[in-house]
Amino acid sequence: MEKSENNTKHEGSNSLIESKDYKKRLSICSDCPDSRFSFGVGLTCGYFLNIFPPGGIKPKNPTCGCVLSMKTKIKKSVCPQSKW
Ligand code: SF4
Repeated sequence: MEKSENNTKHEGSNSLIESKDYKKRLSICSDCPDSRFSFGVGLTCGYFLNIFPPGGIKPKNPTCGCVLSMKTKIKKSVCPQSKW
């Protein structure tokens, strides 16, 4: 049981990146032409959840629809355009 608790803590501490790396990722996303502010959730990669509004222009490049303030903190996240 103790070992299991330690493993859980270890996995959790490895799942987020350091603050400086988070800021760097978020800065790249802020400058990305495919990021946009989505109502209620803030900056997203393309349209939120990749749901395109009527008349919305589908991005030419791949997007994931994620909320970037959360996605950029997770160590295993990847940019769909390999920008970070
Ligand atoms: S995750 Fe990549 S493609 Fe999406 S907004 Fe950020 S830099 Fe652009």
